[in-house]
Amino acid sequence: MEVASDPGNLRNVRHVVLVMSGKGGVGKSTITTELALALQHAGKKVGVLDVDLCGPSIPRMLGMANQHVHQCDAGWVPVYAGSQQTLALMSVGFLLEDPDEAIVWRGPRKTALIGQFVSDVVWGELDVLLVDTPPGTSDEHLAVLEKLGKHRVDGAVLVTTPQAVSTGDVRREITFCKKTGVKILGIVENMSGFVCPHCSECTSIFSKGGGEELAKLTGSVFLGSVPLDPLLSASMEEGRDFLQAFPESATYTALQ
Ligand code: ADP
Repeated sequence: MEVASDPGNLRNVRHVVLVMSGKGGVGKSTITTELALALQHAGKKVGVLDVDLCGPSIPRMLGMANQHVHQCDAGWVPVYAGSQQTLALMSVGFLLEDPDEAIVWRGPRKTALIGQFVSDVVWGELDVLLVDTPPGTSDEHLAVLEKLGKHRVDGAVLVTTPQAVSTGDVRREITFCKKTGVKILGIVENMSGFVCPHCSECTSIFSKGGGEELAKLTGSVFLGSVPLDPLLSASMEEGRDFLQAFPESATYTALQ
């Protein structure tokens, strides 16, 4: 693998992947978190940049709520999960005095903060930097591409629900990627059926297969489907590593 030749704090970051969704609540941050943990368990050094400025949920999902970033001479030191120093996170959530504080900023201020995240966070050596973006296509997406440079983004993983193929939200996301030249690395169908906590049987609540259909329509890779699993949402709430806690579950297999 070649190390990018960019100057600055991203010099030793090999790959940058955006995680996007057409709308909120489809599990984009959940998938970002599980992707980060799966990569970490596979022995990779992972960074997560949470630019969902109005809804920074990754600190809680990774069990890092109430932590703060520190300044060093080279910039902001991200917060590390555990002592291994192989999963680093930077989020606006770490900069807020009160975690319930709302970010009510206009575009230019958001763009400026994303610029600072891109230039000032001391990531060190990373195999992958995952960027959790807000739902839809907003100032934040354009700011990420502008500040990182399009050439620096390997592509995007799109998260959708099974029924989303019939909605315009995810199609707009695809159009955004096409217009801005961001490669779609693949589509994940989340909330694909419900796993019964008693018998572990998976029942399709919504229609199924929307993610796969969308992948076919857009010529993208279908990366797989993740069921609705109460154990997964509980893990997210408690900041617990689901992959470590439930390696026997069907959802674990789906997330690998
Ligand atoms: P988004 O980032 O798209 O707004 P989140 O990742 O914050 O969505 O997920 C919204 C809610 O749904 C969270 O409470 C999360 O724990 C829950 N959730 C997401 N995916 C699943 C899943 N596959 N199984 C169970 N709960 C899920």
